[in-house]
Amino acid sequence: MHELRIAEDLAAMVAGYASEAGLTKVEKVNVIFGQFIQIVPDLFVAAFSEAARDTVASGAELDIEIIPAEMRCLSCGSEYKPAADLLACGVCGSVEIAVVHGKELFVKSIEGG
Ligand SMILES: [Zn+2]
Repeated sequence: MHELRIAEDLAAMVAGYASEAGLTKVEKVNVIFGQFIQIVPDLFVAAFSEAARDTVASGAELDIEIIPAEMRCLSCGSEYKPAADLLACGVCGSVEIAVVHGKELFVKSIEGG
């Protein structure tokens, strides 16, 4: 399951940050996901709760912020937000495109004590 693999990576990241910050208990984890990560939030919360069970983040609340996808056309240089299933450039129609935003997956902050 896609969500579980990411949740395990996230739990490991959170444990690392908690240890750097000297936290022994993480109460809340604020994460940022790009739209292309395509997680199902409810499934992800459940997967994270499972992955974090034996870590300092056990039982932590998860706050997920999704960043909308943004592309840059390599042909004409336009930056645009793609339609759901249409990634080609809306200005010139090129499919030579780069992802500007949408593949993010990082921990914004953790809260605890
Ligand atoms: Zn273009």
